[in-house]
Amino acid sequence: MTGNCLCGAVSVTIDARPEFINDCNCSLCRKVGGAWSYFPSSSVKTTGNTFSVARHDKKAHGVEVHSCEICAATTHWVLTKSFKEQNPSADQMGVNMRLFDPDELEGVEVRFPNGKDWAGEGPFGYRRMALTISDSAPW
Ligand SMILES: [Zn+2]
Ligand SMILES: [Zn+2]
Repeated sequence: MTGNCLCGAVSVTIDARPEFINDCNCSLCRKVGGAWSYFPSSSVKTTGNTFSVARHDKKAHGVEVHSCEICAATTHWVLTKSFKEQNPSADQMGVNMRLFDPDELEGVEVRFPNGKDWAGEGPFGYRRMALTISDSAPW
């Protein structure tokens, strides 16, 4: 399935529907407007030009967030080079599921991690119950 940025210049195609979407409330996810599903990089194809930003306000920045060069919609993230150097087996991308038509995501679980209060390691807590996208519980 394929999602598009607001202007349509960037498309992101994934092999399969995700099992879940993380709608996280940490400052990064809130401010870039990302709600992520995670895939091995071989399962994601992007077309169109993006610019990327890594968090230089943090000592360690694990991800580089990409946005459409024209409309600036957040499209996906990739692991930074320095993160991959430290974690050679890591191969993950985050795709902003807000690019996709919600009708195509029916049946997918949306989780709400409390990234805002996360200690920086270990599992996330959740700030509310997960929902499954459906006509009666749209997302
Ligand atoms: Zn665009
Ligand atoms: Zn987050």
